Amino acid sequence: MTGSEMMALIEELYPILRSVTGEGVRETLAILARFNPIEIHEVPSGSPALDWTVPREWNVGEAWIRDPEGWSIVDLKDSNLHVVGYSVPIRKKMSLGELETHLHSIPERPDWIPWRNTLYEENWGFCLPHSQREALPEGEYEVCIDSRLEDGHLTYGELFLPGEIDQEFLISVHVCHPSLANDNLTGMAVSTAVARRITESGHRLGVRFLFVPGTIGSLTWLERNPDAASRVIGGLTLTCLGDASPLTYKRTYGGENEIDRVASHVLGARLEHHEELDFYPYGYDERQYNSPGFRMPIGSMMRGRHGQFPEYHTSADNLSFVSGEQLEEAANVVLEIFRTMDQNRLFKNLLPKGEPQLGRRGIYRAIGGHGDPESRQYAMLWLLQMGDGTTTLIDVATRSGISFDEVVGAANILEEHHLIQWC
Ligand code: ZN
Repeated sequence: MTGSEMMALIEELYPILRSVTGEGVRETLAILARFNPIEIHEVPSGSPALDWTVPREWNVGEAWIRDPEGWSIVDLKDSNLHVVGYSVPIRKKMSLGELETHLHSIPERPDWIPWRNTLYEENWGFCLPHSQREALPEGEYEVCIDSRLEDGHLTYGELFLPGEIDQEFLISVHVCHPSLANDNLTGMAVSTAVARRITESGHRLGVRFLFVPGTIGSLTWLERNPDAASRVIGGLTLTCLGDASPLTYKRTYGGENEIDRVASHVLGARLEHHEELDFYPYGYDERQYNSPGFRMPIGSMMRGRHGQFPEYHTSADNLSFVSGEQLEEAANVVLEIFRTMDQNRLFKNLLPKGEPQLGRRGIYRAIGGHGDPESRQYAMLWLLQMGDGTTTLIDVATRSGISFDEVVGAANILEEHHLIQWC
């Protein structure tokens, strides 16, 4: 999938009214399943999710506010952000004063509609531009939210691409936000593209993709899949990948796991600008995966940071806020991180005392002290020097400055000549 194909997918998903549960998530996963054979799971309301419980399913028909003259002034038909997610049903006439306690707007951004949720508190509300809110006249308003909050299911999608070994790489994206492009239709589109590309070629590691509602979705998956969780040797949550900021990698809790070293290497080698952040216990589902009972080495790849860009969780996070070029770069980097993890190996030098005589084995062309050794031969020397059994190929690439592909090529030659072995 190219950047423009990812943008086309985002445009198709953008109008769908998503929430943590409900038809919007099902419709979204059905569209994503056209590209990859995603398995859809339906978990009943009330099911345990570690310390949490799968909530009731929320769906909404119409939702509007009529002004004192009976004109519709806010209507869900105009923006999916107008109704507060998980609002309980209401149909009532009330004063402006009472209505005001249920309205949300952003004074500093008077033309934008914010997005709000009330999943864990029984309430209702509307979001609207602050400029519109300021102009509301006194009088009697009528509000309607035709929502259904009832026992149903939490829906999530899972795609597993088996590898040759039972270790796994995990990519997880949240699928619960309504019409917000960067957060997180971009994560869904990049995951979809990466899954397509991984499917087209072989890989040692198994790869698991999760398309889950944020927090409660990953908790539900962890509750049901402790064995699969224990097979994960690295992975990423993907979010906010389409805006203009440089790619930013948030490290795992441990900070020095293989995925951290690989992501740092790939970003540094590929991009002129990127940023890296230490782990912090906020953001997206990486905080569930990294929790002490699991300690899965899951980092996070993003551009704009959670809560840090003005458009975050507002109507300004729209289709014009994201671009296909940014998506394509993000997909390429994520794919290269996976490919590098897939090829990375722990190894050890089988003749660690002194330097083995490479010339006698025909794998060391004459370089006798003049000029630099060719990079493949230099990579062999680095591999032999670092091969104490604690080092992986990516560490050799990073320390030597030689490309990972060159290091892999050199390691394969040394392995064929029984000078190193995989651990
Ligand atoms: Zn969000």
